Amino acid sequence: MLRAVAQAFNRGRHLLVEAGTGTGKSMAYLIPAALWSLQNNQRVVISTNTINLQDQLIHKDIPDLRRILGIDLRAVVLKGRANYLCPRRWESFRRRGPENADEMRVFGKVLNWLRYTTTGDRAEINLNSPAERQVWLRLSAEDEGCTADTCLKTSGGRCPFFRARQAALGAHLVVVNHALLLTDVALGHRVLPDYDYLIIDEAHHLEEATTNALAFHVTYYDLEKLLSALGGPKHGILGWLLTATQGVLTASTYGQLAAMVEGVTNHAFQVEQTARRFFQEVERFMREQREGEPLGTYAQQERILPATRRQPAWLQVEMAWEEVERCLNPLLEGLKQLGQVTLEVQEALSEADQELASALNGPYRRLVEFTTHMNSLVFEPREDQIYWAEVQGDGTLPSLHVAPLHIGSLMERYIWQEKAAVILTSATLTAAGEFDYLRNRLNAAEADELALGSPFDYETSALLYVVNDIPEPTDRNGHQRAVENALVRLCRATGGRALVLFTSYEQLRRTSTAIAPLLAREDILVYEQGEGASPHALLETFRSAERAVLLGTRAFWEGVDVPGEALSVLVIARLPFDVPSDPVVAARAETFDDPFYEYSLPEAILRFRQGFGRLIRTQSDRGVVVVLDRRVLTKKYGRLFLESLPPCTVKVGPLSEVVETTRRWLNL
Ligand code: SF4
Repeated sequence: MLRAVAQAFNRGRHLLVEAGTGTGKSMAYLIPAALWSLQNNQRVVISTNTINLQDQLIHKDIPDLRRILGIDLRAVVLKGRANYLCPRRWESFRRRGPENADEMRVFGKVLNWLRYTTTGDRAEINLNSPAERQVWLRLSAEDEGCTADTCLKTSGGRCPFFRARQAALGAHLVVVNHALLLTDVALGHRVLPDYDYLIIDEAHHLEEATTNALAFHVTYYDLEKLLSALGGPKHGILGWLLTATQGVLTASTYGQLAAMVEGVTNHAFQVEQTARRFFQEVERFMREQREGEPLGTYAQQERILPATRRQPAWLQVEMAWEEVERCLNPLLEGLKQLGQVTLEVQEALSEADQELASALNGPYRRLVEFTTHMNSLVFEPREDQIYWAEVQGDGTLPSLHVAPLHIGSLMERYIWQEKAAVILTSATLTAAGEFDYLRNRLNAAEADELALGSPFDYETSALLYVVNDIPEPTDRNGHQRAVENALVRLCRATGGRALVLFTSYEQLRRTSTAIAPLLAREDILVYEQGEGASPHALLETFRSAERAVLLGTRAFWEGVDVPGEALSVLVIARLPFDVPSDPVVAARAETFDDPFYEYSLPEAILRFRQGFGRLIRTQSDRGVVVVLDRRVLTKKYGRLFLESLPPCTVKVGPLSEVVETTRRWLNL
């Protein structure tokens, strides 16, 4: 891998490298990247999906490399603007003081944090609720209108974002995350300094991370909050504007400004009213789509397709949106004018009011974004976007969503064509031994490829046991009973030490409720992924518990790293196919001639391989993977799952023998 990466850099080629667990992947790209950067005076950007990997690179691998090779290698982490505190906004907030409980909590946290932070990076503080994160956004460097020149004098070089960017400019290696990589260029934020050499680790996540970063969603409540922050003549940002300019403007100009504020307040009120009607109309439309049936356990998601827009019921939604737009246009115009006036008098404003223009600009930008997305959702869809509405069963109004259909074209435009050499790597890039799926998703037709196995001896360390006599998952109750039965027996035999991977939270809950009391009698604890603890905290607890079983869904199919005996059994309850009705999955599936074989299957195989990879983390690990979905045996596609795994010992047998076989394999 090291040689291949070095060659790709030397020859200016793009490369896809799959390297199994234990290869030492990060060193295999860090060494050539570091030497290339030092010798050619070229910056190399390294993108990861998880914070864990970022931390590992910056706190362990790169320092090791520096020490061992004796090189003066400068490496930094650079994040999106919204991660850094903006001292100017903070100062203005501090002078005005918090106005509500959320602001008060964030105020307290930041005040305390500022005593010791050297980075100004929000990862160092806990911002728990969405409301707190909203307050943070208003204090962050998110406003891309700022430049070092505009505020160097006020922030005195204390701006964490500009310091981080400055450090990145002088670094050999710049570590970023996938979300930043493409949004930075696609949305024109330009946070990253120029670079020609790029390494994308955990590359199987690039599409999902970019999709999430570019996706837009909005609820009526978001809009309500935004307009309430805007306020009116006596409160909020508009109230602040009038207080700040009193005494600065002549009486008559001030009078005009007050009238403008009055007008904007009225328009904002009308937008709020009409927007409520608009979201209510969407809700009515959704109800009509389910023919008045009450909502079940799951949220209802309706894609907005050309055919949807032709339905008579959609007409009401269109009319309601037209009403919103009628009020939005003068509101936007008014806000723009207020922004101009503020900029004109900025110099005369007090220190505490310097943030006013940027405070006004925030809601303006968000309203423009809202208008653009809603216009295309309702009337003028773009071919490269997916639109849908979603309603929960909790009585709240629906949310509206927009996401990119394909990120391949962005990759082509901003990455493949722009950069001299790009390396994509991960332990799982191939499905059924081929890179085709990834190439297709990322428009990576031209890249070279290299697939390296794992140095681990899976044949002696991992046993794959496929149960052949349980009902298929289509028989929901039968399959569920078999899963519960298998888990109880297995866990009793192994004293826990098991990770069970599910594809739905509902099945996880059902299983947990059924098995937890039975296992409790044997002093075995059942930990389940849920709304409370974060996956990270749950893993820590599982690692340190003596007799425990961990039940997880999505986040646990990968990223779980429990070496040693604490994890000796991995159970795959069901093959990890995506939910076909998910709007993004459904829209993407439609772009294939054979959606199942070309899209759903490779996605599921990639995740299956990720899941399997949780078991053996070191040379000395030993364990059993039990597959409780016999479609790997009965379906034509099943063998593709098995063939995608590293060569391990495979046994196919009845449920009744799984315990004994596991015992023998683990020498229990
Ligand atoms: S440059 Fe100024 S306005 Fe921009 S984030 Fe830094 S301190 Fe804030």
